[in-house]
Amino acid sequence: MDIYYGILAFIFGTIIGSFLNVCIYRIPKGESILHPPSHCMNCNKKIKAYDMIPVISYIILRGRCRYCGKKIHLRYPVLEFITGLLYVLIYINFGVGIELIKYMVFISIMIVIGMIDFHTTDVYLKTTGTGIIAGIIFLVIYFYIGLPIKTYVYGGVSAGVFIALIILITKGGMGWGDVEIALICGLFLGFKYTMLMLFLAFIIGAVIGLVLILLGKKSRKDYIPFGPFIVIASFITVFLGQSILNWYLF
Ligand SMILES: [Zn+2]
Repeated sequence: MDIYYGILAFIFGTIIGSFLNVCIYRIPKGESILHPPSHCMNCNKKIKAYDMIPVISYIILRGRCRYCGKKIHLRYPVLEFITGLLYVLIYINFGVGIELIKYMVFISIMIVIGMIDFHTTDVYLKTTGTGIIAGIIFLVIYFYIGLPIKTYVYGGVSAGVFIALIILITKGGMGWGDVEIALICGLFLGFKYTMLMLFLAFIIGAVIGLVLILLGKKSRKDYIPFGPFIVIASFITVFLGQSILNWYLF
């Protein structure tokens, strides 16, 4: 690992993270993610470029709008920071190449889907559609550079069908948005890792669901979105999938 590339990956990740914040905030409201430019949600003043440096601007401004002093939610710099860290992990795990770009795209889209699902319990076709198209674009690239693509097609189809069957059998618990999220994971992770991801998602979902019920935060009838569990499971799979399978199989 080259430390300079690592730093570059982190900075790039925080910049993308700042854009993901915009997507997470605006897509559920049906607003454009490009227009209008970033502004304070309280006083509506346009935010100057020098106040839009990821993470750093938040610290310099001590978490408040430069003009009206309204508090900026901590989740903005935190998400920028986490995206930066994830990009460094991707670089450490996959080096420089097509996989680096592929997983940066995958993780970014999954962050947006997971965060929106977590906050609103809704999944938007705008985000899942982007994920599915991105997955197909990478398959086309893989095909042209001579890499195998069958596993990704099988992964996408089987994950989507699997969740769809659960919905049809249980008539609830999961939504069609989960089918789309699983399909994206399959297209990006391939068959073997998608199976691992689904397995992890159910375990994480069961454990967290049980903890929430035991703590009295949710009752058994409450709806807990499954999307965020798929997202967490897919991140574990990207970074630890190979180790988990090696450990499990040998
Ligand atoms: Zn303001």
